[in-house]
Amino acid sequence: MPRASPSLDSDQSAPAVAAELADDLVCALRGWYFTHQRRLPWRDEPSPYRVWVSEIMLQQTQVQTVLPYFERFLAAFPDVAALAAAPEEVVLARWAGLGYYRRARHLHEAARRVMAAHGGRVPTSVEALLALPGIGRYTAGAIASIAYGQRAAVLDGNVARVLSRVFALPDAPASSAGQRRLWALAEALVPAADPSAHNQALMELGALVCTPRAPACSRCPLADRCEALALGTPEAFPRAGRKPVVKPLFAVAALVHRHAGSAEILLGKRPADGLLAGLWELPGAELASPRAHRRKALARALCERADLPAAIGDHLATVEHQFTHRHLRLEIFSATPLDPAPPAPRPAAFYQALAWVAPGAPDGDAPPLSTLTRKVLAAVERA
Ligand code: SF4
Repeated sequence: MPRASPSLDSDQSAPAVAAELADDLVCALRGWYFTHQRRLPWRDEPSPYRVWVSEIMLQQTQVQTVLPYFERFLAAFPDVAALAAAPEEVVLARWAGLGYYRRARHLHEAARRVMAAHGGRVPTSVEALLALPGIGRYTAGAIASIAYGQRAAVLDGNVARVLSRVFALPDAPASSAGQRRLWALAEALVPAADPSAHNQALMELGALVCTPRAPACSRCPLADRCEALALGTPEAFPRAGRKPVVKPLFAVAALVHRHAGSAEILLGKRPADGLLAGLWELPGAELASPRAHRRKALARALCERADLPAAIGDHLATVEHQFTHRHLRLEIFSATPLDPAPPAPRPAAFYQALAWVAPGAPDGDAPPLSTLTRKVLAAVERA
């Protein structure tokens, strides 16, 4: 029978409880990690730069998806200096497909600051790391502990789930009370000896064993210390918070060929701020209302945003795409320029740049496309 840990009630501080259990729990975790950890390229060679890039890529993205991107990114930008020296467009092109492009922009900007302010050396302290764009408390703790062996805590979704279950925490992890309690626990548990292995063990346990659904408690090194298991309801933890409101978004876009039979299509580079900033897409626009007239709205968008009067043709495809807080329904139409020999496209009110592009150019030469635009191109290809 699993043996339950002392529970965390309201008058018991997290660090005090952790102190009772820390040695036992930390020891069991580390033992498990040394025999069960996955071999990952950033673990084989945990330089500060490699750990940093991997941690940024792993935010909101699964390990298996990240692996090929990590190898290609490191081949293109093997160190901080190479990344800092690269134009943003090239960095975004190497990131294309990973999504959440703000991460790439911040990483690039942070590399430039590391060159300017730290002589090219990734800072060692959590405080200095936190001053860099795109590095929050979790990433700073991961770099400081994994790359520099400092006694810093990490708290990502995996760690939050494991700790919420082992201690049967009453708060939703995203709530401010939940965050306070989880960080206090995570910090209290980090050992002075090998904090890198401890932090990675917690994350690995959450990824491989203490999964969101059907946790493999029979294989878990913390089973006899886990309060959620003792209660018989591991999946009831972490406690659920309020669901974010997802707003619907309706938009139209045009597939415009340069001329009949041409492989080149018109792409626009989105504004530097906001959704999908700086990425290239089929020109189009959001609809003011779900009932707006699609073809009229698209013809107007091509005139206003791409300075391209065009006749709107067939409906080619509809693509649904989920952003963090928005659900997009994008309808794509063919369009033909009214001028049979259209001039070089000029950026107008919305796009930073416009270009005729043949999709399928080698990765390094192609403008950075968002996952959404790749989905759109695949959909019109099938149409
Ligand atoms: S896998 Fe099961 S026993 Fe282990 S921490 Fe998660 S819920 Fe507890």
